[in-house]
Amino acid sequence: MVVPVRVRVDEERCKGCGLCVYVCPRGILELGATVNSGGYHPVRVTEQGLCTSCTLCALMCPDLALEVFRPAARAAAGMVAAEAGGGAAVAVR
Ligand code: SF4
Ligand code: SF4
Repeated sequence: MVVPVRVRVDEERCKGCGLCVYVCPRGILELGATVNSGGYHPVRVTEQGLCTSCTLCALMCPDLALEVFRPAARAAAGMVAAEAGGGAAVAVR
């Protein structure tokens, strides 16, 4: 089964501050083991399938490093439209 991407991380923007990790109600964000060009450990999503597209992580991120996508039905009532393979979605930036 292919799990659609709900949260996309721009690893070069991420400074590894951990704010999104703290705020995620599903506990599916963690700082990864990789290091970006700035010397930071970018956050990673452990379980895309558990994401509710609540957007709290993207709203919290001071570096605009996260995009959150929603299924089309919820996007209709959302803030910003975008596209993520599998249907219309919402991106919070
Ligand atoms: S959108 Fe919500 S549930 Fe999904 S990773 Fe961000 S904070 Fe967690
Ligand atoms: S809040 Fe933004 S900068 Fe901080 S760890 Fe999360 S994605 Fe990276």
